[in-house]
Amino acid sequence: KEIEYILDDAPIITQTQLQHWAWISKYYMCHIGEVFKNAIPTAFLLESETWVCLSEDFTTGDESQLADDEYLLLEALQHQSALRITDITEILEKKTVLPVVNRMIKRGIVALQAEIKERYRPKMSRYVMLNHVADGEQGLVETLDGLKRAPKQYKTFLVYLDLVGDEPKPIKVSELKKITQDSGQAIKGLVKKRIFTEEMIQEDRIQYTGEAVVQPSQLNPEQELALGTIQSAFGENKVCLLHGVTSSGKTEVYVQLIKEALEKGEQVLYLLPEIALTTQLIQRLQKYFGSYLAVYHSKFNIQERAEVWQHVLECNAKAQLVIGARSSLFLPFQNLGLVIVDEEHEPSFKQHDPAPRYHARDAAIVLAKSMNAQVLLGSATPSLETYHNVLQGRYGLAEIKKRYGQVPMPDINLVDLKEQQKKKRIKGHFSEPLRLAMEGTLTEGKQIILFQNRRGFAPVMECTDCGHCPQCPNCDVSLTYHAYKRQLRCHYCGYYSAQVSKCHSCSSEALDTKGLGTEQIEQECQELFPDARVGRMDLDTTRAKHAHAKIIDQFTSGELDILVGTQMLSKGLDFKNVDLVGVLHADGILNFPDFRSHERGYQLLSQVSGRAGRHEKRGKVLIQTYNPYHQILQQVSIHDYESMQREQMYERRQHAYPPFARLIRVTFKHKDYSKLEQASEWFVQGMRNLWQDRVLGPVPPAVSRVRNQYIQVAVLKVPKGHDLATIKNSIKRIENSFNAIPYYRSVRIIFDVDPI
Ligand code: ADP
Ligand code: ZN
Ligand code: ZN
Repeated sequence: KEIEYILDDAPIITQTQLQHWAWISKYYMCHIGEVFKNAIPTAFLLESETWVCLSEDFTTGDESQLADDEYLLLEALQHQSALRITDITEILEKKTVLPVVNRMIKRGIVALQAEIKERYRPKMSRYVMLNHVADGEQGLVETLDGLKRAPKQYKTFLVYLDLVGDEPKPIKVSELKKITQDSGQAIKGLVKKRIFTEEMIQEDRIQYTGEAVVQPSQLNPEQELALGTIQSAFGENKVCLLHGVTSSGKTEVYVQLIKEALEKGEQVLYLLPEIALTTQLIQRLQKYFGSYLAVYHSKFNIQERAEVWQHVLECNAKAQLVIGARSSLFLPFQNLGLVIVDEEHEPSFKQHDPAPRYHARDAAIVLAKSMNAQVLLGSATPSLETYHNVLQGRYGLAEIKKRYGQVPMPDINLVDLKEQQKKKRIKGHFSEPLRLAMEGTLTEGKQIILFQNRRGFAPVMECTDCGHCPQCPNCDVSLTYHAYKRQLRCHYCGYYSAQVSKCHSCSSEALDTKGLGTEQIEQECQELFPDARVGRMDLDTTRAKHAHAKIIDQFTSGELDILVGTQMLSKGLDFKNVDLVGVLHADGILNFPDFRSHERGYQLLSQVSGRAGRHEKRGKVLIQTYNPYHQILQQVSIHDYESMQREQMYERRQHAYPPFARLIRVTFKHKDYSKLEQASEWFVQGMRNLWQDRVLGPVPPAVSRVRNQYIQVAVLKVPKGHDLATIKNSIKRIENSFNAIPYYRSVRIIFDVDPI
């Protein structure tokens, strides 16, 4: 095709990126196009709208043999030079007009024209500057004299002089207009008289904060030691894990490393699990690094994202330090020196949908290697995958075992709910010890965090006569009751309906709620402590753009006494005044049917507990459970990561699960259940022929139908040491034969490598 326009003066993607994206597509078994789509800000993509116009070759007289439709279109085009497909649909009063358009294209009567709709453009603003002719003391006096008879221009000129001070510099027209209350006429006049020259200057869309205001903190001996260990691991070009208990001051260690990298002129990438939760951290880093810090945010608009992209591509100092969630991995770094993966154990580093289903921590390590950059992984509760690499000697290990400033680790107590029930000491969902501890904390004027891993009022509504629970019509799952909106909601597809008053199955009105959600805890809390100010943080209260920041600010400033929330609360928050953390129901976290549930449980409970007593006084944690002898709860209560890690590793090795094997998950989806069953069985049989009992499934997952699609899942275990690339090729070959069977072709197949 002919080149119609040049989109960019220089490429917006680097060679290194292309290689890395190719690796992602290969490793995670998806198309390179899917990686591109995910990686590039949409403002850089060519979004065009198609217009139909008369062909240049068209001469009147050709219209003699046209059909009615075609003639109508031609007539319309003779009035209006170009029409959109939607316009044509209206004119022809037809549903599909493409056949008509295509026939006319073939006959050389009309042609298509693409117009670019939306594309990154730097933000340009109009400035004025003093023309050099009028420069100098003498020139100024003469100019002012000459303006005596134009008072508005005279005034504008004076304001301008005032704004520039001693050094000549451009002043923004809009700013000047605002101060002088000029409609623009005076400025125009001054330009016409050649006193001002006009200039278009590129500006930032994103507000970069000013200069750094503080120096990084002096590290204490433990932090100093950790820093040394990290640096010597980097000296050997090894990835390093910083394993430091909650509030040990890991962030301050990162800050030192970042500072050194920036001073060397290197770019730094700081990856976080969820950017929405990090206003605290961003404010902290801004104090140290000022305008070097750019945040790459999925809630930024597309032009802003493109702007960060440009800054990174140009190695601009303004985005030399990028802090962002997993997608910031795709930015066009040219001079990357350091990658920090904070809270490296967090599952949200893995993308589920859509493809590429990549793990940002793992992909970052590969990217860093290709650019000779160093990688630091940080966590108080490292993932077993990472810890395994440490034990194998592949990664370095730095440890901080004490909290900063001699603050002891929180005092964690388990509350036996069975015993409490027997003694009738429970009110609502609050045991006696928890109520007493809350009372004490409130009296002292300290704050409380309550953790419940489910949002909504109560997970399900149940008929006490027949046991029926209202189900989602699209998914194989019960609806969740949300008291605030009086709705039943599906957490999988978003379906909702008004609260029901009668059982759909037996018409009984004896409906009751079962299970426990954050809304209900909030309500009970308010009933137990009517004077306390209670807030709630979960997906439902934080949908809006700045909602997280608002709730966190309210809690930080002491406008709230109690904060009830889901796992959002476990992520890196640093509150000064929280003395008590309560976990309402630990069993729900530990009994999840997944081979990682114990590791997860340990991480989640330790992280939530870590919000207590971070400064000064020792914090207190109460964990309510029906099973206080569960080994994970015992380990959490004495901060024993070591034993947890050893026992879990043993089990994983016994059953050949990660980190001792890799998993490839194949998911099948289709509307028709019997076709799905047949198709998945066919596919998995192909896998079994190659890998026998290392193939598990196909089985329906816990929620086996979502959005009217039935689901089947199979998993292949690949022991360490086997060649993953060959295995993936074999799977792709099975997929090709599968797709060659017309009856199966409509079944959707999704690959997930290293699923989480
Ligand atoms: P972590 O990231 O390990 O959870 P933080 O870096 O948030 O810990 O540190 C916990 C608290 O201790 C923070 O309020 C931090 O400001 C303070 N702190 C940590 N290290 C230092 C230091 N070297 N000097 C002063 N304050 C520090
Ligand atoms: Zn019923
Ligand atoms: Zn649903």
